Amino acid sequence: MAWAQELYVDPHISEHAREIERFRAFCVAGPDGACTIYTGAIGDDGYGRFWLGRHRRDDGPAVVRAQRFAYAAVHGLIPAGVVAMHDCDNPICVAVGHGHVVAGTQADNLAHMGGKHRGGGSGLGRGTSGLDRAARHARALALREAVADGWDSGRVREALGVGMPGQGSLFGWNEIGTGQ
Ligand SMILES: [Zn+2]
Repeated sequence: MAWAQELYVDPHISEHAREIERFRAFCVAGPDGACTIYTGAIGDDGYGRFWLGRHRRDDGPAVVRAQRFAYAAVHGLIPAGVVAMHDCDNPICVAVGHGHVVAGTQADNLAHMGGKHRGGGSGLGRGTSGLDRAARHARALALREAVADGWDSGRVREALGVGMPGQGSLFGWNEIGTGQ
């Protein structure tokens, strides 16, 4: 599948180093334990999109999901067939590590999307797996907008209500970082 091609990121290669620098400019980190919001392009599916700046190999991707790039940048490589999935259920999160962006198999990812973790997790996106594609997209856009001027807890909390009217309180801001 297109989104699970091998991707390596080596900061010693200047093209890759420039990608990392460009990528970082799109990242707005929350307080300890919270998600890092990607503020670059967002696809219709609610996931971040990052255009690579490197000279492409024939079969290499030109654009990747933001969390995939984030994972490869931290670990050096994400192999073909391995999915960078969200434990936090927040599709535009690019915080790599436990509770946020972790590696899984496609089967793990489908199980996850199917609601294995629904209502669980400690990240910002609690309950995202219960949203449809349009609602996930709308919420991703709202989150991006909420951190346009830097992290703002009040605006982030407000944005989390998009697509789930009246259920904003489910996200329990105070619980973030204390779970798991
Ligand atoms: Zn997260």
